[in-house]
Amino acid sequence: MRGAVFYGKNDLRVEDMPLPQPVAGEVLIKIQVCGACHTDLAILEGAYPVRSLPITIGHEYAGTVVEVGEGVSSVRSGDNVTVLVAAGCGHCYLCRRGLEHLCPNPAPRRGGYMEYAAVPERQVYKLPQGVSALAGSMSEPVGVCLHAVERARLSPGDTVVVIGAGPIGLTVLQVARLAGAKTVILSEPNDYRRELGRKLGAALVVDPRREGLAAAVAEATEGVGADSVLETVGLVPTLEECPRLVRKGGTAVIVGVSAQEATARYNPFDLFYREVAIAGTIGVGQQMARAVSLLPELEMEGLFSHGFELADVRRAIEHRRGGEGLKSYVRLNGA
Ligand SMILES: [Zn+2]
Ligand SMILES: [Zn+2]
Repeated sequence: MRGAVFYGKNDLRVEDMPLPQPVAGEVLIKIQVCGACHTDLAILEGAYPVRSLPITIGHEYAGTVVEVGEGVSSVRSGDNVTVLVAAGCGHCYLCRRGLEHLCPNPAPRRGGYMEYAAVPERQVYKLPQGVSALAGSMSEPVGVCLHAVERARLSPGDTVVVIGAGPIGLTVLQVARLAGAKTVILSEPNDYRRELGRKLGAALVVDPRREGLAAAVAEATEGVGADSVLETVGLVPTLEECPRLVRKGGTAVIVGVSAQEATARYNPFDLFYREVAIAGTIGVGQQMARAVSLLPELEMEGLFSHGFELADVRRAIEHRRGGEGLKSYVRLNGA
């Protein structure tokens, strides 16, 4: 079979590799789709930490079970599944407190830019009936967005600001609506993405090139501010702006991946005086099962615009750099 291996900055190679054999407790998956994440681009550019080299990457994938190892009981051949790639060790301080996604010593990663993967059963999730591989590959990003909404302490009836309408912004918008947000205000300069956001449930869309987001939020909330803000862009100006958009006692959540060396400035007196919280969010762990169960309620396929073959995995990842279309992915095994 063939698969992509990352050897270091700008060095991603598609190679022949042995077809994995599932040992006891493992599931062999024939992969159909692996979505390209902005994190993959950061890894390729050498701007994101990786534990060891070489490594297989791609953490948003779905496919079909073709074989199960001894003792596997939750899935069988023919099931459509997705995978929690970033699984914790299961026994450290953080894993035992339900923070598997922050585990300092995670399980070895089995990336998804390859034709087959053998994965421990506990990392494999059966997709709901009728969910396509493309939609199923979004389980991990949906989990990220579920976690972000939890970090925002979102309550039904809330007014929420989402900054950025990329694949994550448009997913967090939908998840926030499902979690009970009454009003979502979406800020996005790209016309196509902004309109998609409106269709997916944003009550108010703002083009930050033409109108001030702060003024729009103040007007929509009668000067109170939003209950929470979810920043999905990772750029310093919007990161610095988000705590100023929330009401007293509200929360600004950092979902976007910024440059590792970026520094943002906040006014600590304002955070103190208005009891504003800033929360980071990276991940998925406990949220994966709920994310998978929510897929039938979410528009996921419409977030994809460009499919590539495995040989063009690099182009699929580099596509995430530009503003053309939306999410890119690699299709495998003739999917
Ligand atoms: Zn991702
Ligand atoms: Zn752990």
